[in-house]
Amino acid sequence: MHSSERGIRLLRQRVDAWASKLKVTPHLVRVQRMTRKWGSCSTRGTITLAADLIEQNRHFQDFVVAHELLHLRVPNHGRLFKALMTVHVPDWRALDVVRGHGPCAMPRQTRSGRTIAEQSKSVG
Ligand SMILES: [Zn+2]
Repeated sequence: MHSSERGIRLLRQRVDAWASKLKVTPHLVRVQRMTRKWGSCSTRGTITLAADLIEQNRHFQDFVVAHELLHLRVPNHGRLFKALMTVHVPDWRALDVVRGHGPCAMPRQTRSGRTIAEQSKSVG
């Protein structure tokens, strides 16, 4: 099996694990090339994850996956959303800082700095 196929399969397993943990059911989960964001969630419940997320470490993958799946329960980045993120990924703020971005859905201007990937992306 091609290594990227294996990576995507493992990423989808993380999505499945988090979906049951968060008690949500995504309408559709897509993994595709994304240049501006690590992930996004549509109002119809379609989760899209950046294909190169498979090259990131497991913890960062969990952060992005949990973030997008939580949008199925809370469609914004308000206080409830942040509180739920803190419950499930206690150090999510540190991961956001590492990315050099604030809250995700609105594309922010990119800022070069301590990023853990070659491209700056936000979490949608
Ligand atoms: Zn978001």
